[in-house]
Amino acid sequence: MGKGYDYRTNRDEIHWHNQGARVRLCAVNKRPPPAKKLAPPEFARKVLAWYDQHGRKDLPWQQNPTPYRVWVSEIMLQQTQVGTVIPYFERFIVDFPSVAVLAAASEDAVLSRWTGLGYYARARNLHRAAKLIADEHGGQLPDTVAELTSLPGIGRSTAGAIVSLAGKRYAVILDGNVKRVLARFAAIEGWPGHTQTLKQLWALAEELTPRARVGNYNQAMMDLGATLCTRSRPDCQRCPLVDACQAHQIGAQTDFPGKKPRKTLPVRSVSLLMPVTQAGEVLLEKRPPVGVWGGLYSFFEQDKRSAGEWCLDNLGALPASIEQWPGFRHTFSHYHLDITPILLRLEQTAPQSVAEAGKLWYNMRQRPDVGLAAPVQKLLERLALAYNV
Ligand code: SF4
Repeated sequence: MGKGYDYRTNRDEIHWHNQGARVRLCAVNKRPPPAKKLAPPEFARKVLAWYDQHGRKDLPWQQNPTPYRVWVSEIMLQQTQVGTVIPYFERFIVDFPSVAVLAAASEDAVLSRWTGLGYYARARNLHRAAKLIADEHGGQLPDTVAELTSLPGIGRSTAGAIVSLAGKRYAVILDGNVKRVLARFAAIEGWPGHTQTLKQLWALAEELTPRARVGNYNQAMMDLGATLCTRSRPDCQRCPLVDACQAHQIGAQTDFPGKKPRKTLPVRSVSLLMPVTQAGEVLLEKRPPVGVWGGLYSFFEQDKRSAGEWCLDNLGALPASIEQWPGFRHTFSHYHLDITPILLRLEQTAPQSVAEAGKLWYNMRQRPDVGLAAPVQKLLERLALAYNV
């Protein structure tokens, strides 16, 4: 557009553009030559040849890739990068080496190993699914996509990864990395969260996935997305698909896949009360199992009462002092939360009156085995500094 060219003269030209957003190459007379066609077997051959030379083969879950280890890694890798996941995965597998051990663990112990990884529903679902596998599947992960997707937290792509990477049997995957590669390769427009776009991507993934070496192929596609076809700076010159990639051909790689429609997030605010004894114990409460920070321990939220009144009502004494700490913002996928921390310095030791289920005097010296939301963990670290513990 812009220079007076009418690029929408026929369907063929329109095909070259990202109709949803910015248009990079719009002049009909500058249209690039079409990308090479690549039949599915040739596509797979190129991808596998690249994998043999450059694919990742030493990730912790690739060693002894049992269905359980692949499952845990796939859940952790959702919305989280490999480098972040590795230490969490290694600790998790040491503490919960099998479905049976995970199923028998307490929710607090599972959430504790997840603290800092975010998206805690993943951990709760993993735990629930482990219990179901122990109770209803004799402790063995089911080996079909259909059965796996009936378990909490396992979608079609995760099930496909378990079947193909661990079972070495044919199954198709479409995680975020693969979506990006395929959307660019075929210039599939639209946000993958839209049903129609997602259908197109699944159809293409099914068409291209080979039956031979399917585990390596699926791993290769994830690796391509993670290492070359990255979100903002794809390294097309090193990509085995470059000659046939339509997004590369029109110079519009980062226009694919289409972006999620933007919406303004609402802002909520909360004051978090941090009653701390001289011995360095801070009162936390366990949050309800569903909803934000479900099952994690957090500070009490201030209600209509003043901080002093709250303290008197709940702990039977006024605090020695009250300090408001600088506020900060924590952003969830669906809203911003403006947090104001309020420190209540207590003179007494931990009162017995709150030794109820769901409440915990968290000892900053001993750090009990419970799950903590990231902002709560951050505040606990600051408190530990302030109290020199
Ligand atoms: S050529 Fe570039 S945009 Fe296309 S799949 Fe490869 S890295 Fe991604």
